[in-house]
Amino acid sequence: MRQAEGVQRILVVEDDDAIAEPLARGLEREGYAVTRAATGREALDNTDVDLVLLDLGLPDIDGYEVCRRIRAKATTPIIVITARGDEVDRVVGLELGADDYVVKPFGYRELVARIRAVRRRIGATEPDAVQRVGTIAIDRRTRKVWSEETEVLLAPKEFDLLALLAEDAGAVISRQQILEQVWDPHWYGPTKTLDVHVAALRKKLGQPQLIETVRGVGFRLAVQP
Ligand code: CA
Repeated sequence: MRQAEGVQRILVVEDDDAIAEPLARGLEREGYAVTRAATGREALDNTDVDLVLLDLGLPDIDGYEVCRRIRAKATTPIIVITARGDEVDRVVGLELGADDYVVKPFGYRELVARIRAVRRRIGATEPDAVQRVGTIAIDRRTRKVWSEETEVLLAPKEFDLLALLAEDAGAVISRQQILEQVWDPHWYGPTKTLDVHVAALRKKLGQPQLIETVRGVGFRLAVQP
């Protein structure tokens, strides 16, 4: 049984940057170390990881074949990403040796839940993801937040927003970046929703000065020097 310690490594095999990029950033935010591969060949050269997310539609080698070849040499858990529901039968039939699958378009939280479930099944430990920023503690694994040692109940987007700002505490994160990563990679809707969430977050944390507005740019976590 794989009993990994420290940072968990995930290989994201996906040729579509618009999907792979935000996915990789999101997983890094969860505390995983992410390697990306845009082709089947690259994937097969980078299989020394703790889990593989494998898109079936790849430009060179067929995703099914990639899955079989990884499985032929390692027991690394594989979660297959498929674009078509009709592929699911073959995946579910474990013909591929995959551990689980998600169908595009998938929700990011759903995928993270699948990753955790698969990893739990093999007895792996999750990354230690509790981060302290000033008097705030953020646990990315359980998605819990404490302000001055008191737990604060946040809505999912509020948590994602705080986790993103905390990822590079002190740095300004642009509104566009936040909308893309917390909401949707193709967010064209009203941006007022962001301000509403920031206001709610400030109120819930009881530290309004913690999230600083940088006018015309975005927001930053004001960390004490
Ligand atoms: Ca693809």
